[in-house]
Amino acid sequence: MDPNRTDVAKSGRTFDSAYSFSFSIAVGLILFIAGLVITLTLGQGETIGLVFGIPLLIAGLVLPVIMMRDLFHHNEITGECPFCGAPIKTSDATIRLNCPACKKLIEVRETNLIKGED
Ligand SMILES: [Zn+2]
Repeated sequence: MDPNRTDVAKSGRTFDSAYSFSFSIAVGLILFIAGLVITLTLGQGETIGLVFGIPLLIAGLVLPVIMMRDLFHHNEITGECPFCGAPIKTSDATIRLNCPACKKLIEVRETNLIKGED
């Protein structure tokens, strides 16, 4: 038992990203298919089908792009290697990386660069 151990892994973030990714694809797909069905069924000579169908088709294509753009927007982190002091540039999406200068493992915790354990 170690009450000071607060290193809840950052894996929650990757799960979140994967989930949001599939979710935006699914929503886009549903809108796209709904739009397609409405356009094809109601759209036979009826403009009402196109009026509802076309915006749904467009929404189905545009929505995932907007959601994903938001998803892949990450903050940039700049800092020094905790081993050799070399300048490190990464993003908060990175969980760990190897220092380009000394090749040692660096872990990214929020906005801090700390020594890796391996
Ligand atoms: Zn280094």
